[in-house]
Amino acid sequence: MIDIPCPICQTPVLLPFPHACPHCLATFDGLLGKGTSAFQVRNSREHRDLLYGQNVQLYRGREYNCSFDHFGEANLPDLVRYTLSYGHRATVPSNHGNVPMVVIAAYIPGAIGSGVSKYSTAGPVPASGVMLVSPASLNYAHSFPVLDDYVRHKFATTLGGCGLCMKPTGFGHGICAECYAKCSGTWLDFL
Ligand SMILES: [Zn+2]
Ligand SMILES: [Zn+2]
Repeated sequence: MIDIPCPICQTPVLLPFPHACPHCLATFDGLLGKGTSAFQVRNSREHRDLLYGQNVQLYRGREYNCSFDHFGEANLPDLVRYTLSYGHRATVPSNHGNVPMVVIAAYIPGAIGSGVSKYSTAGPVPASGVMLVSPASLNYAHSFPVLDDYVRHKFATTLGGCGLCMKPTGFGHGICAECYAKCSGTWLDFL
C-alpha cells in the first residue's frame, strides 16, 4: 500500500488522495480556486481567461500564463486529487516573502487548458499539467494549469519517479508509461 503525507498536517494518507484529508479534514479550497484572500481571488481569475470567453493574457510582466478550459475547470477536484496523489514536489523562491513555496505538479494525458509564454510567438498552446502552489497556506494556496515550457525551464533537473512502481520519470510525470498502460485509458482510473 502506498501513502503520501497530507500537505497540511503531514500525516500519511493512503492513495488515491480523498477529497478531504481524513486526519485534519482539510478540503483544499484554495487549490480548487475557492480561496477567499485577495491574492487567491486575483490569481484564480487570471488563470481562468478562457472561462470568461477571452484569450489567455500575459498579466503584468508575467513570463507565462495559462488558463483552465471548461474541461479542466469541471474536473478540478479530481485533478487536484490526482496531483496530490501522484504529483512531484519541489520548492521555488516565493514572490511574496522569503519562505520558499512548495509546489506539486502532475501531467494528465489530455488538455485541461491553454497557455501563452513571452518566449514564444506560437500563440496559445494546449496545457496538460496541473501545478499546486503553497498547498498548506490558507492565503496563498492556489492551482493553475502549466505549460510544458514552464516546467522544462523551472524543473529541468528535478527528479520525478512513478508513484506506483518507483521507476524514474520526468518531473510531473507521476505515473510511468508501463503503469499507465494497465488502466482502461483514463487517468480517472487511478482515483
Ligand atoms: Zn491532513
Ligand atoms: Zn510505474
